[in-house]
Amino acid sequence: LRRLQIFRIVHSIDEETEKKNKADLKRLFSLAKDEILLCVGGMLALVVSCLSQIVAPFFFGKVIDTVMESMEDLDRMILILFGIYVGGAACSFIRAYLFVLAGHRLVARLRKRLFACILKQEIAFFDENRTGELMNRLSSDTQIIQSTLTVNLSMLLRYTFQIIGSIVLMFVVSPALTGVLLASIPVVAIGGVLYGEFVKRLRKRFQDELAAVGATAEETISNIRTVRTFCSEKKSEEQYDKGIDKRYLIGKKLALAEGSFNGLVLTISQGAIVLVLWYGAKLVYDGRHGKSGISFGTLASFMVYSINVAMAFGMLASVYGDFMQAVGASIRIFELLDRKPKIPHVGGNRFASLEGRLEFQKVSFAYPTRQASQVLKEVNFAVESGHMVALVGPSGGGKSTIVNLIERFYDPDSGRILLGGYDLQSLDPQWFRQKISTVSQEPTLFATSIKNNITYGKEVNIEEVVDAARKANAHDFIVSFENGYDTIVGERGIRLSGGQKQRIAIARALVMDPVLLLLDEATSALDAESEHLVQEAIDRVMQERTVLVIAHRLSTVRNASKVIVVDHGRIVECGTHNSLLEKGGIYKKLVFHQLTAGSIEFGVP
Ligand code: ADP
Repeated sequence: LRRLQIFRIVHSIDEETEKKNKADLKRLFSLAKDEILLCVGGMLALVVSCLSQIVAPFFFGKVIDTVMESMEDLDRMILILFGIYVGGAACSFIRAYLFVLAGHRLVARLRKRLFACILKQEIAFFDENRTGELMNRLSSDTQIIQSTLTVNLSMLLRYTFQIIGSIVLMFVVSPALTGVLLASIPVVAIGGVLYGEFVKRLRKRFQDELAAVGATAEETISNIRTVRTFCSEKKSEEQYDKGIDKRYLIGKKLALAEGSFNGLVLTISQGAIVLVLWYGAKLVYDGRHGKSGISFGTLASFMVYSINVAMAFGMLASVYGDFMQAVGASIRIFELLDRKPKIPHVGGNRFASLEGRLEFQKVSFAYPTRQASQVLKEVNFAVESGHMVALVGPSGGGKSTIVNLIERFYDPDSGRILLGGYDLQSLDPQWFRQKISTVSQEPTLFATSIKNNITYGKEVNIEEVVDAARKANAHDFIVSFENGYDTIVGERGIRLSGGQKQRIAIARALVMDPVLLLLDEATSALDAESEHLVQEAIDRVMQERTVLVIAHRLSTVRNASKVIVVDHGRIVECGTHNSLLEKGGIYKKLVFHQLTAGSIEFGVP
């Protein structure tokens, strides 16, 4: 009874996978529905070119038999045969062109959809998924789907058609010989199904491993400076090598499986051909000696059919493996395409205007990747419209997390955040994010012109760009470059100092004319000149605006209308600079440390 139960369970799992496979395959094909016209055109061409392949051997036999009898019809027969081959080749060209074109169109569309889908995901998704893996889905997985759905599909159809057509004509030519050949088919078919299942699993692992090493490489190359500083090239290399070796081992198994399967198919099919030749030769002999048999030409055309069928089987076997690989790749792509972002990208309320007032009401939060450690615990505070409030406290206390929540990169686990009096979760994220600007400690600039960087969030005319750059103390150094605002920054362009980057980031934030400005003062020491210019720019920007600043400098906290001290995810003190000094608590210690250490660091006690 137990055995029966186990059998049932195994059986139902098998059924389940089969169902899933079918569903995956169906969805895989549904991807190509916009290319249906191209595919239909390709298929028509395919049918014609296959037909030519199928009837050609028939004429081949006729030519031989003609020569055996008389020479009269030879030229005509040869011309027909030639015509069939040329026509077939032309259709082959059309088929290949249309299918490859459909493939390019499909993969272009798929990549666009996938990229858009990745961009819509909430920030926590990017904490969980490594960049390199996502890149791999965009490039390699889509590529596999392209080649499978078009090139392989056309091959699959071609060979299937060729096999069926050839077998039908073989029956017409000689049923007895066909019977001999067909006996080998079940063996190949059973082997093929078993092999396909095995290879599908291996191929998925093969792809997964590539994604993993891709992520390692991406991380190392994009952080090459840090890698160099710590002399950890060897370590990265070893890590990469390990992944590649692991993949190689899977590849080795795959090669063995592919090779032996191809060998098996060839042995069986060619064995069948030899058998056919043996039996066919006997029939020809019988025919020539007055018994019932076949002609030379019949045997010749039958042999060509047999070889065609055997080759088609061999090709089908390899196409089958590729198909299974595409199913593996498509599973990963569909996973991504189906993923609904946990925080919507658009949708929600938009209003004619929005005030900068900000309020946290009993906000608690843990990062989804580290659910166990609560980063914010019942945080309450408010920033009144037009005021500047400073967040201070030891590093790791939760200040940046507060800023992340205001941008709605993450949603709180409990409590509410209000912006302009509205619950943040009721507002359209795309709309309210436009009303907020952030200047971070190490701002990211894109590899494009300075002007494009400044107008990254909002398209404005050059006058406004210059105005923002002037306010950000960036104009002077920008015009000192040969190409001014058109100077390209980033990897292939000019290298900017930390202070210059920050001033461009400030200009970028200013262009948005935000109702709420989120600022993270730099802790890293800028050179004195830069420091002064950045500070002046920041002070100017803060005027008459609602600002929440992660403060590191004494002058900032002095000017703040309220100072909030965050430690271990809680607000431990709150008040003006003077009142907190009088209180003599943790804030006083922080200030004291700042004065004695003489550094611009304010956050680290
Ligand atoms: P602060 O800005 O005060 O230095 P943070 O808000 O950056 O502090 O960090 C608070 C805590 O949250 C730290 O323990 C940090 O390790 C953790 N943390 C920050 N970002 C993430 C993240 N993306 N995923 C998981 N934990 C994080």
